[in-house]
Amino acid sequence: MLLAGQASGIRFSGSPAEMGTEPARAVSELTGTCGNSSVGPSGSPWETVQRCLLCQSRPERWRPFESVAGPVLTLHYVRCQECGLVFMNPRPDASSLSDYYAAEYRLQVQGQEDPTAKDRWAQSKRAQNIVRLARPLVHEVETHLDIGSSLGELLAAFHGEYACAGVGVEPGRDYRRRSEERGQQVYADLGGLPLEARSSFDVVTMVHVLEHLPDPLAYLREIREDWLKPCGHLILEVPISLGILRSRCRI
Ligand SMILES: [Zn+2]
Repeated sequence: MLLAGQASGIRFSGSPAEMGTEPARAVSELTGTCGNSSVGPSGSPWETVQRCLLCQSRPERWRPFESVAGPVLTLHYVRCQECGLVFMNPRPDASSLSDYYAAEYRLQVQGQEDPTAKDRWAQSKRAQNIVRLARPLVHEVETHLDIGSSLGELLAAFHGEYACAGVGVEPGRDYRRRSEERGQQVYADLGGLPLEARSSFDVVTMVHVLEHLPDPLAYLREIREDWLKPCGHLILEVPISLGILRSRCRI
């Protein structure tokens, strides 16, 4: 597995510039036990995180990581001092998660559901950098699954580098439509993939997705057990505060 960034208490080093990423933009909501229901934008139910999912630490062990001011509201992120995890708090609760990422999230972050010029540019640069990072370590790819495929830039970059078949998973409606318009095969969630796709991917990429998941470790296990080939590669990019490196590790 190839990881870029820092997650799950696993530390990496290096330079953010190496990846062309913007850690400050990496919103996340990796959470544990939640409660204190409240109402978020558009009336959707939100909740306040009570425990870090990875280490179960309490809020007094968290520190502000970033606040992302959007046209609707400001999203707040904290970093657990025990394990290094960054997550959004408060966040949409489980009942509103799909609807939130289908449209509301990008409305809040960038003021429109449709991609902005800045987002297009950033995604293109990020895709190029990830392929550059992967190239020395991943030599052959026939099948690629990109979770959080957005506009399809990374799918296109992998296809350009490896001539592989690509499949995307993107919950954002407008982003998914844009990707489909360029001929890419994209699903709203993993459950939409055909059964024959199971254990068929040489590479699974997740770029700034892990931090949005309510149970990231369970999701990673699902990727390993249900979607990757036995010797497949998982490439992650996650928020960091100390720098970015590439490393190999085991789930
Ligand atoms: Zn923690």
